[in-house]
Amino acid sequence: MIARLIAALVAVALFGVLVNAFLSVQGVRGNLLLYFHRHPPARRLVLPAPGSAGHRPPPAPAKLVRKRLLDRLERGQIVVALWAAGVAVLVGGLLARGLLAPVLRLTEAIRRYGRGDRGSRAVVRGHDQLAELAATFNSLADQIEREEQQKERMIADIAHELRTPLTVLRGELEAVRAGLRRLDAGTLDRLIGEVELLAHLVGDLRLLSSADSGTLVLLKRSCDLAGLVQGVVDSLTPRASAAGVTLSTRLEPGVVLADAERIRQVCYNLLDNALRYAPPGTAVEVSLELRAEVIFTVADRGPGIPEEDLSRVFDRLFRVDPARARGEGGSGLGLAIVRTLVEAHGGTVQALRRSGGGSVFRVKLPNTAPD
Ligand code: ADP
Repeated sequence: MIARLIAALVAVALFGVLVNAFLSVQGVRGNLLLYFHRHPPARRLVLPAPGSAGHRPPPAPAKLVRKRLLDRLERGQIVVALWAAGVAVLVGGLLARGLLAPVLRLTEAIRRYGRGDRGSRAVVRGHDQLAELAATFNSLADQIEREEQQKERMIADIAHELRTPLTVLRGELEAVRAGLRRLDAGTLDRLIGEVELLAHLVGDLRLLSSADSGTLVLLKRSCDLAGLVQGVVDSLTPRASAAGVTLSTRLEPGVVLADAERIRQVCYNLLDNALRYAPPGTAVEVSLELRAEVIFTVADRGPGIPEEDLSRVFDRLFRVDPARARGEGGSGLGLAIVRTLVEAHGGTVQALRRSGGGSVFRVKLPNTAPD
């Protein structure tokens, strides 16, 4: 762009100078020819007597002729300069218009985008800085469009998630009011279960939105990880036994700096999923190793996760089998929360396929010892 601008300016200047020089030379030549035409050297020597037939007025004195000639030359110069300036402005204007056209097109595209036309894109031509700027604008607009679509999908999914327990609640309550169902302990349990699901969903959404807005606060303290994991395992043992699943642990003791509540939630969500998918008669294996990193794994013998979905299971509201997972009572946010909390601790989480069938979730956290 800069090179083109400089080239254009140089071209205009050169053009001006050339035109000026050409017209000046033409002007001087014309004036001299005129002078010699009016005062041919041969005739100036013949001076017939006044009153005779061949009498001509005497040639003007040399000084006067020179003055006239210079006046004409000056006028010629002015005319030439005006011509050169006019042509330079015209050529410069045309070149500037050519140069500014892409800038104007880009400005117009941005203006349209600002007015709400989300499909507005700049035309990219060539490979100069301006083309790069237009391409950058286009990719930014594409990214915003993708994010907006993702957000819209997310809002629709959340609305759907909230509607499901609300519909169940309304159906149950209407059945009680119509006298079709008695408000006994079983009905109350179901109603409370739906309310808990709603509260859980709202809590999860709040946590994710605070992580998005950068207001998620971690209260890092000395944390006995093995004790913490064992506590979660103990709290889930009755549920595992009821499902015919064994919970086996291999936990290395050690103290690290972490937010115990958040890590407990990570552990709970992974074990909750494992128990949901583990078939009766199998074991869910929980292990904790404290090396250069803390490695926490939960392995089950459930259906496993298809290869292509291994990274997507951490996306919000993603489900490998939507109908089944909803039926199992999951909010679809459990693994998104796991990833958010693990990453907030500076760690990573990975879903893997287990040889022989099943899934493995592996969390790695920095092994930061407390001071
Ligand atoms: P959900 O509440 O639906 O379980 P999650 O975010 O916890 O939401 O999990 C997302 C999806 O990942 C689940 O719907 C399920 O398809 C898959 N998934 C999670 N854990 C397991 C597991 N241990 N075995 C098989 N699939 C799993």
